[in-house]
Amino acid sequence: MTTTPRKFSIVCIPGDGIGVDITEAAVQVLGTLSDTFGTFTFQFTTLDWSSKNYRQRGYYAPEGGVEGLKKYDAIYFGAVGWPDVPDHISLWQMILPIRTTLNQYANVRPTRILPGTVSPLSACAADPSALDWVIVRENSEGEYSGHGGTTPSSAHAAHTVATEVSIFTRVGIARIVRFAFETALRRPRRTLTMVTKSNAQRHGMVLWDTVFYEVAREYDGRVAYDKMLVDAMTVRMVTRPQSLDTIVATNLHADILSDLAAALSGSIGIAPSSNLDPSRTYPSMFEPIHGSAPDIAGQGIANPIGAFWSAAEMVRWLAGASDGEGLGAESMVHAADCLMQAIANVTEQGVKTRDLGGKSGTKEVTDAAKKRNAGAA
Ligand code: ATP
Ligand code: MG
Repeated sequence: MTTTPRKFSIVCIPGDGIGVDITEAAVQVLGTLSDTFGTFTFQFTTLDWSSKNYRQRGYYAPEGGVEGLKKYDAIYFGAVGWPDVPDHISLWQMILPIRTTLNQYANVRPTRILPGTVSPLSACAADPSALDWVIVRENSEGEYSGHGGTTPSSAHAAHTVATEVSIFTRVGIARIVRFAFETALRRPRRTLTMVTKSNAQRHGMVLWDTVFYEVAREYDGRVAYDKMLVDAMTVRMVTRPQSLDTIVATNLHADILSDLAAALSGSIGIAPSSNLDPSRTYPSMFEPIHGSAPDIAGQGIANPIGAFWSAAEMVRWLAGASDGEGLGAESMVHAADCLMQAIANVTEQGVKTRDLGGKSGTKEVTDAAKKRNAGAA
């Protein structure tokens, strides 16, 4: 047993709207968790990289800001975006640079039905465990490569042509597919489904299929795998949720499928996401999948569960960090499990925000989670 607590420096980027509320709630919950266990501590630093600052100063992250994130152990992100700034600006000025600079090529999005929450799927009414998925999203290339252009100039607007170029590399596909197989291997059902659109898109999607089957050979007999077209996949998620387990897809496809997955599990407000650098060279980033939700911002009603779940994933990831001899790893994994248990207890007992059909506010849910954390160790 370790006597000195492991110390982690976490940089928080709350961002905009409900990103601010849920980050504050997650910091509180993480504080209670570390106090309870005593084997690890977090030192939080907050950066105000928000749309408000973009309007005032012309940038989200200052010069060198993204590079500066490398000195932290992990990044905790709220949500960014506001109606008076076009969405692609925050994405291209801040979020995508963070993911690429810090080699966060694997975006992991688990989805399952928490106790006391209701899925719109009838298959899940009888058996909530029918929906238990992990979506592995390629996070560094593909449809979000940024290549392309618009032509001709505005003088000939009627004839404007825009191209949006997707870039797929063998290296990029192989590493995410291998990561997905490793993820599937650690799950009870050991099943991986790969999603493309290779019947219509004949270059990048075909390369995905080819590389997938090459990598799959390494896992023959250990992981069951199959391939779906993305359109058919949406149908399968709704009609046969129990037939899926781990899913791997491109940047765009997995983005869309994970919003669908979150809605099928009850609300987008509960869904977590980890942006991982599997090599652990740079800090990974943890954030709920929802956006800044301007319609409910500042009302104290945002669901913080997706933020807590993301925080639990962060604790689990940090448990595996190689500081010193990695002492206290077991305790941190236990702490992450306890936080998940606290979340489940809170929803099960009906302490739920409106998006889950409850009446509680963010603070009430946060206080309930803290109370259960405090009794956890
Ligand atoms: P982004 O572009 O960042 O993905 P978005 O425009 O898709 O954002 P979100 O902010 O993700 O939209 O959410 C869509 C709607 O879902 C919100 O407007 C809000 O009503 C609801 N919602 C999202 N997150 C939560 C939450 N944590 N609690 C309650 N409701 C939420
Ligand atoms: Mg969205």
